[in-house]
Amino acid sequence: MPPHRLPLDELLDEERALRRIVATLVRRRRTEPNPERPPVHFLDRALTASLEQHNEVVWRRLADKSHGLSEARARLQEGTYGTCHACGCRIPPRRLRAVPTATLCVSCQARLEGTRN
Ligand SMILES: [Zn+2]
Repeated sequence: MPPHRLPLDELLDEERALRRIVATLVRRRRTEPNPERPPVHFLDRALTASLEQHNEVVWRRLADKSHGLSEARARLQEGTYGTCHACGCRIPPRRLRAVPTATLCVSCQARLEGTRN
């Protein structure tokens, strides 16, 4: 396997780990108290609202990560994995190990983030 490529196995491992987290969260969600009967005390309501917001953030992150991993797998299969979408250079293996779903090299990512701020 060329050094610029991350083995498909690593992406699959990460996807499997993600699926385990999602399964745990789904089980936990099912055992949560019935939202039809909200807690009476205002602090309980505040805590419930805060936990729901936290759950939403966690779900969104998991969905984004899952989407990123599927796309990375597709790029691996079509042979474009590890190529920067913006400048076309090879993304260094060190960056791909740290961020397996990276689609931009460090310079292009920094440029993009610089334009966002
Ligand atoms: Zn680039």
